[in-house]
Amino acid sequence: MRSRCSQPLGNWQLHVAMANRYWREDRLELAAAAMQNALALGIPAGDLYDFQHTIEAEQFTRQESLLRRVEEYLWIEANPIRWQGYYARLAETTLTAFQTVTDALQVRWGKPVLVTFFGQEELIAFMHARYGYYAARLPWHKVCLPPSAVYPVSNLRHAARHEIAHAAVHQLGGEEVPRWLDEGVAVTMEGGVSDGERRRFRKARRRQSFSLNQLSGLFESYETELDSALAACAYAAAGDFVGSLLQRYGTGSLRALLRNLRAGQGMERAFRESFGVSLQQAEKEWQAGWERAEDR
Ligand SMILES: [Zn+2]
Repeated sequence: MRSRCSQPLGNWQLHVAMANRYWREDRLELAAAAMQNALALGIPAGDLYDFQHTIEAEQFTRQESLLRRVEEYLWIEANPIRWQGYYARLAETTLTAFQTVTDALQVRWGKPVLVTFFGQEELIAFMHARYGYYAARLPWHKVCLPPSAVYPVSNLRHAARHEIAHAAVHQLGGEEVPRWLDEGVAVTMEGGVSDGERRRFRKARRRQSFSLNQLSGLFESYETELDSALAACAYAAAGDFVGSLLQRYGTGSLRALLRNLRAGQGMERAFRESFGVSLQQAEKEWQAGWERAEDR
């Protein structure tokens, strides 16, 4: 008789819930095993397969990687044999990006940032993302980057700053940060909106409006079906709006906004208390700035 423990018991939802819990704890082997149990019971087609692939990609990378502490609040996970002579560059560039974001947003980290470097692009080929992805885990803030985000080093600089900025936003603002703000801060930390992106955004907004509310929806649908040209405009818009706030009000106000959101204030009140104007007013002024640029 086989041991009861080795058999998938109960319904598949239970195993997916277990997988989710282990994944949040970054216990990838257990997460993968729970997902296998769910699969054995038959899970319906859909997003769950992406979750399964994500777990497998992270677990595969963990098995072949070296987990190394770079400084008090920064770890990297990468396979030194895969990266060879580039490995040292990888660690050093990630550290610089981490320090840049930490200083710019004056972050006091409550837990370390772990940056995981996937050795193969195919591991997250199913995923649409600007660079890689950020996911809050219990032991750390986890950032995962595919090879396309790593070469050349200028790309890695942008990618690492962008994804580590998401970790910083999460550290400062918790779970209630709207997507447009999260991406806007990340694009700003990455180096801001380029002239080319600005030109493309200017053209795109003649055809469709880009309100802040719409932006959050655009980012979410990009992960599933949206084309990347439209997604690029959404990033440019979010980055430009947040960049304009930072220029006008400074980092202190942005930090106050994130702190207020974390404390449970709604967006409207948190924004007004931090910037002294309503979000609607700030957005109206930002849109008006683009209208004026259009008239010139
Ligand atoms: Zn992002």
